[in-house]
Amino acid sequence: MRTIAILGRPNVGKSTLFNRLVGKKLALVDDTPGVTRDRKEGFQHYGGRRLRFIDTAGLEEAAPTTLAGRMTASSEAAIREADIAIFVVDARAGLTPTDRGFAEWLRRASIPVLLVANKAEGKGGATAALEAYELGLGEPIPVSAEHGEGVTHLIGVILDTLPEGEAEDESRDKPLRIAIVGRPNAGKSTLLNTLIGEERMITGPEPGLTRDSVSVEFSDAEGRVRVVDTAGLRKKARVEEKLEKMSTGASIEALRDCEVAILVVDALLGMDEQDLRIARLAEREGRAVVIAFNKWDVVEDRVASRKAIDDVLMTSLTQSRGVSVVPLSAANGKGVEKLMPVVRTTHELWNKRVPTGALNRWFETALSRHPTPLVEGKRIKLRYATQTKARPPTVLVFGSRAEMLPEDYRRYLVNSFREVFHMPGVPIRLQTRGTV
Ligand code: GDP
Ligand code: GDP
Repeated sequence: MRTIAILGRPNVGKSTLFNRLVGKKLALVDDTPGVTRDRKEGFQHYGGRRLRFIDTAGLEEAAPTTLAGRMTASSEAAIREADIAIFVVDARAGLTPTDRGFAEWLRRASIPVLLVANKAEGKGGATAALEAYELGLGEPIPVSAEHGEGVTHLIGVILDTLPEGEAEDESRDKPLRIAIVGRPNAGKSTLLNTLIGEERMITGPEPGLTRDSVSVEFSDAEGRVRVVDTAGLRKKARVEEKLEKMSTGASIEALRDCEVAILVVDALLGMDEQDLRIARLAEREGRAVVIAFNKWDVVEDRVASRKAIDDVLMTSLTQSRGVSVVPLSAANGKGVEKLMPVVRTTHELWNKRVPTGALNRWFETALSRHPTPLVEGKRIKLRYATQTKARPPTVLVFGSRAEMLPEDYRRYLVNSFREVFHMPGVPIRLQTRGTV
């Protein structure tokens, strides 16, 4: 989904334009919780595409009073997320120093900027809009947000300006699927309730993909999140539950349905064999893992506790090396706000595709640092690598006798790939194919 940010000084008509574009009745306009609490965003379909609009009105007032402060605090954040910026000026009032300051800054933006001269209704409106040419942002588009004039034309320009690549994008509309796993009493249900309580619950509990499973949806700052099949949820939904405790079997089911697994570990007990078993299951299923290091509120020696889990992860969870650990208290909510951003980042990495050029540069360097071993007296000759898929990232390596590549060398390649492309906590698949 593509995002359009509406920017400009106060009172030029940003909110009016936003409402016009989003359609007051049709659109879901909400105040996104979390970091961007004051932000207004809305969705609307145009030209068969679902577009997201961000209105920065009101943010300026809340931000520092200097011009520079305003820009960094609100507009910059909006621009970072947007594919197009709509810069609104007031055709009636004429240009102000603030407009010019904004324009100067926007000329350096890395995304296309559409210059909209608002309040250009009626006779003389288009002429008044012409002054905005001076801003050096191309031809001003005269509109009257209040009267709806010129808005259709503006939508046309937006559609023409939007980057392509919708197919891949559509997946971003789908909720992120997470599973909350861990041994009994680690705090899974407590965490789930805190997450849902903090964020906004959209639906659920409702039947999930597999029989007996339930899922629930909420939204965080980035969008929808679906929690699939957890024991805690089942309790909550009062679904007939044969497995009172979260068994390994139930974990596997949840892991298959999810994209990122949140492994809840009881910090009082530390990471033990049972936790590791679940983490390895996640690896085996190709799922990214984030650890919620729970009950942090009652840990006395936090330094020692943290060191202990880091040591276990380093030595025992080699496949997902670098998995993120978020200390938190599901019960009192402290630290829980840090969890979803880490989950989102991990999810992005899990989805990542490395460009072929970069992949080949990595491959050559890795081979030269550490030559391939001899097998039965002959050197394995690897020729090239390609990333065949993401989710999780999967690298296919071609070469003569590539399929005979020993385990330690495979591990070397995987770890080097993970390190070079910064994918901590992401299971990486290495496949080999022999060539003649
Ligand atoms: P924002 O602070 O940039 O979000 O501006 P608002 O959307 O709140 O609008 C500021 C004022 O301009 C309001 O009184 C609106 O009614 C008025 N306004 C917005 N669009 C138009 C327009 O197209 N023509 C005229 N004449 N007034 C407008
Ligand atoms: P589940 O079996 O993994 O779903 O675990 P529960 O959510 O039912 O929690 C097990 C127990 O741990 C309950 O008594 C909770 O009150 C307690 N608990 C959960 N989270 C925390 C926490 O952050 N701090 C403390 N001190 N206790 C917690």
